[in-house]
Amino acid sequence: MIYQKLKGTVDWLPPQSQKWRLFQQKICNHFEKSGFSFIETPYLEKTALFARGTGEASEVVQKQMYSFLDKNEESITLRPEATPSIVRSYIENKIYGNKGVEKYYYFGPMFRYERPQRGRQRQFFQYGVEIIGTQDAKSDAETIAAFSYLYQSLHIDNQLRLNSIGCFQCRPPYLEKLKKYLIQNKSSLCEECKVRVEKNPLRSFDCKKEPCQKTLEKAPFILHDLCESCKTHFLEVQNYLKYLGITYDILPKLVRGLDYYTKTAFEFASTKLGAQDALSGGGRYDELIKVLGGPETSAVGCAGGFERLLLVVEEEAPKREGVFMASLGEEAEKEGLKIVTELRNEGIRCLLSYDHKSLKSQMRQADSAYVKFVCILGENELRSRKVMVKDMEKSTQEEVSLADLKGYLDQHV
Ligand code: AMP
Repeated sequence: MIYQKLKGTVDWLPPQSQKWRLFQQKICNHFEKSGFSFIETPYLEKTALFARGTGEASEVVQKQMYSFLDKNEESITLRPEATPSIVRSYIENKIYGNKGVEKYYYFGPMFRYERPQRGRQRQFFQYGVEIIGTQDAKSDAETIAAFSYLYQSLHIDNQLRLNSIGCFQCRPPYLEKLKKYLIQNKSSLCEECKVRVEKNPLRSFDCKKEPCQKTLEKAPFILHDLCESCKTHFLEVQNYLKYLGITYDILPKLVRGLDYYTKTAFEFASTKLGAQDALSGGGRYDELIKVLGGPETSAVGCAGGFERLLLVVEEEAPKREGVFMASLGEEAEKEGLKIVTELRNEGIRCLLSYDHKSLKSQMRQADSAYVKFVCILGENELRSRKVMVKDMEKSTQEEVSLADLKGYLDQHV
């Protein structure tokens, strides 16, 4: 019996897994530098958290969640997104008591039962940020800027699409208007959108089907029905973005698939991605914390798909790194293992070979491991307490005494 991975999941193997790690580090460093602190919440939560937090009527809750009854007959869900978990944690740990603004970033796996295709998986990784505790339009701009600068630093061409989807004051009357329009045009909508009219009319804007898209072009847009407070907020966000030199397109039909968003909604897209072109998406969610049982607290956040980012980043030339210890003979192998252990303890990445291989075979292994240096330790070197250090980039070599090896490598690695 040969086991195969589940549909929509991926194995990352070396050397591609190096790229995975490298970009994970780059993203995390970027968010750290931008003043966000790392947060890690469980991958399993009670189903009710997402039903409430993501929204009963949302596509994610209706169709995509990996939910099951545990041995205690409790309904558990593998998280489809991180925001409800982070808000749950914020409330449960009474972080609101600090009365400050919390800035978090996260990086981890999400699970959604979707039809797999390029850039769409059932287990995928998201990188994201949340700023909790302020309504200030500066925090919307800061969130957008964190992603914009991330893409800039990784040389990823992108388009920022921006909209405001109003608040719980101006949205309900607008939704009535939209519903009326959709009911009038029901015959030209797909079966799914016909259901959405009642349950979640805003989501019809997300429908990819041609007749629905066409019908919705003439639909009323929330952007034209914003209350004064939402209008002012949206203008402030735009002014900050202009000030930061971040270009954007206003897309009145941009809505977010998840229920709890208010005011600013945005999306970064890439032309290199094809059908699934969204690099990341986010927005303001001033109601979610209250909905989940916390005090009235405003927040804004954004999440991006990591595998999609890896699809569009330029391949960087792999860098030679670390040291390979090639030892010949029983004594040298023992000493080689000791030196490798010491160098590793000093923070130098070190590899070695097994099964008493020939020098030629060890050199081949070192080359495919893409190390910068090979240290050759034979009986002669052992007697004189020296190693031959070969620079794999420059194809030069020199003898270095064992006592000086660490210093030499530190200088050259
Ligand atoms: P969302 O949480 O739905 O707002 O999605 C935020 C971002 O996560 C999207 O813009 C995508 O880049 C990524 N994403 C969402 N769903 C998937 C998926 N099934 N596979 C890969 N990436 C995804």
